[in-house]
Amino acid sequence: MPVTPLHYPVGFALSESSRRLSLPGLIVGSFIPDLEVPIMWILFPSLPDHLVLHSLVGALTLGALAAVILTRFLYAPAISTVFGVDRERLNEACRVTPTLVLSCMLGAVFHIALDIPMHPYNPVLWPWVNPFEIVGVLVPLMGFSGANLLLSVTMVVFGMTILILYMNENLWERIWLGDS
Ligand SMILES: [Zn+2]
Repeated sequence: MPVTPLHYPVGFALSESSRRLSLPGLIVGSFIPDLEVPIMWILFPSLPDHLVLHSLVGALTLGALAAVILTRFLYAPAISTVFGVDRERLNEACRVTPTLVLSCMLGAVFHIALDIPMHPYNPVLWPWVNPFEIVGVLVPLMGFSGANLLLSVTMVVFGMTILILYMNENLWERIWLGDS
């Protein structure tokens, strides 16, 4: 999905499904695979822009590591500055624990899973299976732009529902910290 934040609702839903998971880890993990897109454009313009971090092996190693580092060091300062969420609570939620690592991994894997149906090529099993052999199921039905539009609209509706459901509570705390 070109609009990376549209992956947010999946991380939120995962944290709701198991309160033991870390919402910050799930959020950062669910954004992390797209970090490679600008890097590929600049450094490897002849290669596909979705590659290492959109593969399971890359997402579960490099991707998870990058997500843990970003969650630990950037999440609390960024979210407290932009949304005014309590810095101490954010720091506490972003301590490096097995739960945080697992949440980062899950977020990245679900990012890849959400990308697959609409992408004309998928490096999910890279480097063992050629990405161009795995065509998203929606692509032959409605093309990349149609599939992308459908999933993007679904995620916007899902995201708006979350916003409306929690509008009356401490909205930003709920959005960025979950129930912790
Ligand atoms: Zn992606």
